[in-house]
Amino acid sequence: MGLKSLSKVLLEERYSTDKEVLLCYGYDASGLDITPVAVVWPHDTTDIVKITRFAYENKYKIIPRGAGTGMTGGSVPAENSILMSLEKMNHILELDVENHNVLVEPGVINGSLQLELEAKGYFYPPDPASLNICSIGGNVAENAGGPRAVKYGVTRDYVMQLEAVLPDGRVINTGVKTAKGVVGYDLTRLLVGSEGTLATISKIRLKILPQPESIVTMLSAFTSIESAAMTVSKIIATGIIPRTIELMDRLTLYAVNRLKQVGFPEDIDSLLLIEVDGNRRAIAKEADVISNICNEFGGKIKVALENQSREFLWDARRSVSPALYKLSPTKLNEDVVVPINKVPALLMGVEKLSEKHDLPIACFGHAGDGNIHVNIMTDKNNRESFEKAEKVVRELFELTLSLGGTISGEHGVGLTKAKYIDMELDMINIDLMKGIKKLFDPQNILNPGKIFPNDKR
Ligand SMILES: Cc1cc2nc3c(=O)[nH]c(=O)nc-3n(C[C@H](O)[C@H](O)[C@H](O)COP(=O)(O)OP(=O)(O)OC[C@H]3O[C@@H](n4cnc5c(N)ncnc54)[C@H](O)[C@@H]3O)c2cc1C
Repeated sequence: MGLKSLSKVLLEERYSTDKEVLLCYGYDASGLDITPVAVVWPHDTTDIVKITRFAYENKYKIIPRGAGTGMTGGSVPAENSILMSLEKMNHILELDVENHNVLVEPGVINGSLQLELEAKGYFYPPDPASLNICSIGGNVAENAGGPRAVKYGVTRDYVMQLEAVLPDGRVINTGVKTAKGVVGYDLTRLLVGSEGTLATISKIRLKILPQPESIVTMLSAFTSIESAAMTVSKIIATGIIPRTIELMDRLTLYAVNRLKQVGFPEDIDSLLLIEVDGNRRAIAKEADVISNICNEFGGKIKVALENQSREFLWDARRSVSPALYKLSPTKLNEDVVVPINKVPALLMGVEKLSEKHDLPIACFGHAGDGNIHVNIMTDKNNRESFEKAEKVVRELFELTLSLGGTISGEHGVGLTKAKYIDMELDMINIDLMKGIKKLFDPQNILNPGKIFPNDKR
């Protein structure tokens, strides 16, 4: 059956093969771009089942897509693929305040959920910097983190139950609605972070938390990135767990100043954006300790008391990625993680890589949990520069692994990191993972070519 037969399984307005439409769904934030043969917009689980069966029976591939903000090409189509956009499944289905959880469809935008919950005195901790534009389904598929991960953990820590459609159209329900549950293997945790390669997630039950009584936001400016990094290690070593510790280096500050006219002083080398939350009196003490540690390493502290000034700072932090895109045509955005006491060594190593290969590198991100976004500025149309940038990526990964880290903390493998996974995983692990993929998807229908380096595309 050709694509025209989609009309037998879906309402006309729920799919398109128009070239203009297809072009809009061929890319994500990685900059990679491949046009699908059709785009479908399921409105419910039944639609997903029908589309999946259609693809299964007619040998099309299915690419699930949330909002296309992924950094590693996870939702970029493969050959002969139907792009399944979950954007219309964007409803909050049930808010169970008594039991602290919420049931949502995958297309709900993270920031919209946050607003709904805040109005009821709750919050959902995972807050990727892309929260206003990324979907919860995409967050689950990537196991997204965010600034608050340092204290509250990542998406995986909040997913209680999933409904998902297998590549042959069967629907599974995983997990429990209760605080505990150990019956059988934990398929929920397996699906979280599976990057759309095992099943299409159609419903998600998330744990939520009551809002903290109070938040203190601090900004500390440093004259060297090493001092900023040592400050982070020392804060964590005291036993205080801030809600966030975000780092921005000199190039990042320059880029944000240019885009947003934030007015960060040009003579400083790096900034830490630190927040503590909880009981008002307790966090006042924590803020004092943090302030003293910053001073010890030469950091000049400013405290934001008003909600408005907090939001201004967070808006600046969230604009880092778009701001950096204005500095060079291409940036390779890596998201390595090292143990927290190795953050200074990582940042010093990156400076050396930048000098050695004569390429600007901007570092920013979630320093409090050791997750640094290392952005190598290059131009994909300049072969010499791009080849150098790729060498930097490999050497960065070698450095990260030698420090006991991992090559991706939250962006996943997708297409861009597939060729590097054997630097971190041995063949026993890779073969087991491929076996799991085969068990879920024997015909390799769902999001082929992602994660594993040897799959044919
Ligand atoms: C400016 C910017 C800042 C960012 N900051 C962060 C950050 O702080 N932390 C962080 O973790 N990430 C960050 N990201 C990366 C990105 O936003 C996250 O990976 C996010 O989780 C992707 O969500 P999405 O809805 O855009 O998913 P997409 O990009 O559409 O898809 C991502 C992957 O999920 C799969 N997928 C999507 N929906 C489903 C579904 N329903 N079922 C099965 N598979 C599905 C896709 O196939 C793909 O493999 C940032 C990105 C940008 C552009």
